[in-house]
Formats: sequence, structure tokens, C-alpha cells
Amino acid sequence: MSNLDEFFEELRPDELDGYGPIAVKELKKEKNVVGTYCIFTPYELISAAEAIPVTLCSTSDATIKEAEQHLPRNLCPLIKSSYGYALTDKCPYFHFADLVVGETTCDGKKKMYEYLGRMTPVHVMQLPQSNNREEDFENWKEEMIILKNALEEKFNVTITDQRLKEEIKKKNLERETLKEFYQLSQLTPPPLYGTEILQVLDISKFTFDKSLANQRTRNIIEEVKKSYNNGERRISEDAPRILITGCPIGQATEKVVELVEESGGVVVCFENCSGVKGNEELVDENIAPIDALTEKYLNTPCSCMSPNDNRIDLLSELIDEYQVDGVIDMVLQACHTYNVETFRIKSFVTDKKNIPYISLETDYSQSDVGQLKTRISAFVEML
Ligand code: SF4
Ligand code: SF4
Repeated sequence: MSNLDEFFEELRPDELDGYGPIAVKELKKEKNVVGTYCIFTPYELISAAEAIPVTLCSTSDATIKEAEQHLPRNLCPLIKSSYGYALTDKCPYFHFADLVVGETTCDGKKKMYEYLGRMTPVHVMQLPQSNNREEDFENWKEEMIILKNALEEKFNVTITDQRLKEEIKKKNLERETLKEFYQLSQLTPPPLYGTEILQVLDISKFTFDKSLANQRTRNIIEEVKKSYNNGERRISEDAPRILITGCPIGQATEKVVELVEESGGVVVCFENCSGVKGNEELVDENIAPIDALTEKYLNTPCSCMSPNDNRIDLLSELIDEYQVDGVIDMVLQACHTYNVETFRIKSFVTDKKNIPYISLETDYSQSDVGQLKTRISAFVEML
């Protein structure tokens, strides 16, 4: 076993300081907790209200059966899973949340929030459907102000510009540190497996003291660099380099990443929400904080935007920077926006970037692993 294999093996989240449900339980004694589901949520506003923003559980099939008592079966598994975790009180973060901040990204989600609101206080931000008109900016800015007022009232605090600027700096530093980490995969051969990238992103996300999270990511970067500079090579230079795009990935859908890597490929970049999507663009630290937050979050390259040109621009850059050999577009069943976008993404990747593309539709069950394995190994072999 190589040094880095052992290093990542030992990074078991349950043993990390300040990480996970136990950490939230402790913090809850002094602070309020705000649950979030989506990267359109302006985390900085929540932390500036002296509350802890936490990502709520949503990516496993453990609670889908219960969710289907209220929600249709033919709905995206992410929405059903989120709702099921809340309904069954199996998400520790939801359990401690004083408020959930949602957003009208897609139809299924916005209707689910109506039911969620029967269990816990929910504040829904009305997201514009496009981001290229001046009105979109003004509307989204108004939603930022409405959320700011709601947080101030709920938690009896004042969110000053000064506090917001501090939180913007902190969050930017977290984004930059994570970027420095996952950009290590731009090296040839890459020093990291895709599963390890997801593991580190997850650890950082659920470490609530951000200076601790950043320090931990920095130590990981140093460890990876040290081994690489000492000549350690775990991944073959010939392993096809894969970029994964599409719906949010994690937990149950890590099966896709594992199958790529079992087939001899390596995932070098996640364009998804859990990966690059939320970290690439920083919040401008030199303009009025609410304007800066409005601009950054409105630019999120999600398929709920129409048109969603930002996704094409981001993909184009990432394919070049990570010297990608093939693109896998992972779409969750019944996610209409990402599903419809596959045609545009396929044309762009194959015609403009001249590299192979495959789209895979899946859900949170393991029943399609055999079928996915056949398709993924054939794809990787072809590269
Ligand atoms: S894919 Fe879109 S709606 Fe889903 S979490 Fe990401 S930004 Fe939010
Ligand atoms: S994956 Fe698609 S359908 Fe599911 S919550 Fe995200 S945008 Fe909505």
C-alpha cells in the first residue's frame, strides 16, 4: 500500500475533529442552525447572522420509501431523499435546524418545500429563471435582502456590511483552498482518485469551523504534494481522464465514480454542485456585499437557468485545464432540466471539444450497477 493510500484510508470522517453531527450538536448549544439543500443558498448571509449553515442529508435511498407516502414515485430521487430524511427525522442536521432555506430551482423541489414547511420553518428564495437580464439581478438582489431581513428577525441579530464582508472573505478562502486541492488532479498522471476528491470536499463541507476545515485541506494538499514530489505514482499516465458533469453527485451515486475507476479510468474533475460548480467563482470582495453575493450566486451554472450558457463556458474551461479524455453526464431519473440539457452538452462536448461523451441516467438504488458497469467500462475502454 502506498503512503497516500494509507493516508486517505485513515481519513475516516467519524474520527475527525469538528466534523459531522456531533459537532453540530455541540455548536447548537450556542448557535442557531440553518439547513440548506442547494448551492444557490448564500451561506455568507447565514453565517453573518451568527448561525451555522449546514447541508441537509439528501443523497441516499434510505428514506425514499417513506417519502413516497407523500410524493410521487416518478420524482427525482434527490427531492424524495431530502424529504424522506426530514420526515423520518433521520438527518441529524435537519433535527437541529431552526430554519431551512430553500429556493425555487426546479418544480419538484419548490413544491416539496411546501410540504417541508409543515414540519419545520422554511424560507424559500424565489430564484429568477434566467441570469442574463438586469431584472434578474435586481430580483435576486431583492431575494437576498428579503432573506437578510428574515434571518435578522428570526435570530434577533443585525447583519452589518462589515460582518458580511468578513464572512465573504472566510468563504472565499475555503473555496480557494478547496480549488487548490482538487486542481492537483490537473497533473499528469493525477495524484488523486475521484473518490478521494469527493471525500475531502465532504469533510470540508461538514467541518463547521472553517479555519479548522481550511487547515485540514491545506495539510492534505501538502501530504499529496509531498508524496507526488517524492515520485509516488498511484495512477497510470495512460488512465483515461474523465470529467463528470450533471446532477449533484455523492453517496449513492458515487457508484458511477467507483465504476469509472474500477474500469481503469480516473475521474479528474467534478463539474457538479458537490465539486467545482460552487467553488469556481469567488464573491467579489471589493464591491457592496449584497451586490457581490447576488452576482456570484446568480451565476451558478445550474440547468434550472434558461439559457444555461455558464455551464458550457465552465465545461469548456475545465475540459482544457484537466486535459479531459471523456465526459460523463450523470442525470438523476426524472430530473427534466438536466435531462433535456444532455442534448446540448453532448453536441458541445463531441462537436466543439472533440472528445467522447456519454450520458447515464440513474437513481439512488443499486439495482442498475450491473448495467452501469457494462456501459461505463465500454466507454472507458474506447478512450
Ligand atoms: S443542481 Fe441546481 S438545483 Fe440542484 S443543488 Fe445544484 S444548483 Fe441546486
Ligand atoms: S437533480 Fe434535478 S430534479 Fe432533482 S433537485 Fe436537482 S434540479 Fe431538481
